[in-house]
Amino acid sequence: MDIFGVTFSPERLQFIVMMVLLLAVLLYVRMLKKIRQKPKDQSITKPDDGSMSDTELDRYARHIVLRELGGAGQQRLRKAKVLVVGAGGLGSPVLQYLAAAGVGTIGVIDDDHVSLSNLQRQVLFDEEQLDMPKVFAAQIKLTALNPHIEIRPYHRRLDLKDAKALVADYDLVLDGTDNFITRSLVNQSCVAQSVPLISGAITQWEGQITLFDPANGTPCYACLFPEEPADGLAPSCAEAGVVGALPGIVGSIMAAEAIKHITGAGQTLSGEMLIFDALYGESRKITLQKTDDCPVCS
Ligand SMILES: [Zn+2]
Repeated sequence: MDIFGVTFSPERLQFIVMMVLLLAVLLYVRMLKKIRQKPKDQSITKPDDGSMSDTELDRYARHIVLRELGGAGQQRLRKAKVLVVGAGGLGSPVLQYLAAAGVGTIGVIDDDHVSLSNLQRQVLFDEEQLDMPKVFAAQIKLTALNPHIEIRPYHRRLDLKDAKALVADYDLVLDGTDNFITRSLVNQSCVAQSVPLISGAITQWEGQITLFDPANGTPCYACLFPEEPADGLAPSCAEAGVVGALPGIVGSIMAAEAIKHITGAGQTLSGEMLIFDALYGESRKITLQKTDDCPVCS
């Protein structure tokens, strides 16, 4: 075949066509890579005067238009320091929604690693993070979700030695752990430091949420549960089971309570407990009473 006066054999022509196609594919792949590498949020740096950047205003637009929150509420979220105890079933949605909401500093303490049986409900994690410490896996996911906030991971079990000092560093604590000893320790530390505590608990199909703030007249955890329940009375999720979506519901309510508490919007569950039954789609609220001789808050 003659092209521009040059003679090409069919084999040579086929070779040239193949090379052109290969070059086109390589250029296409390179272009795709460039598109993927493009940073999604380009103004992570905050303005010097403490105001929100344009991308933050865009990111939090649905909060800012809410009458109860507005720009002032978003600024309060931005300045808030919240400690989440436990990065499990409840910790997962709590962390995701607090991070997405723009809570400026989020501490997370947990000594556990991601396991396969977690993934049925702990949707913060994925299969590639199996065996990774939960707090570091959470930090990766939450930073990817919102690069404007600071995540502080503490890879250890909360103990008596550092609980009070750690809690004192935060304005609000959310507890989603599944054992009495840790819950009691968190409660004691929060009461000692006058830090409010949003507490959530789940088992099987039922969940409970409340806000303990004894410095403002509400009961504390020990007013309700002064002693460790007898063996078998409060089985863990591993023993009794839990439906996958339940921690999503209860954890999201905890996050909503945190947002209300920080911004002053609406009325929190302070002094009340919300009980949600997923099996029958029912919810009810009960008023909680302070115990006069509570060993922790009286
Ligand atoms: Zn008490």
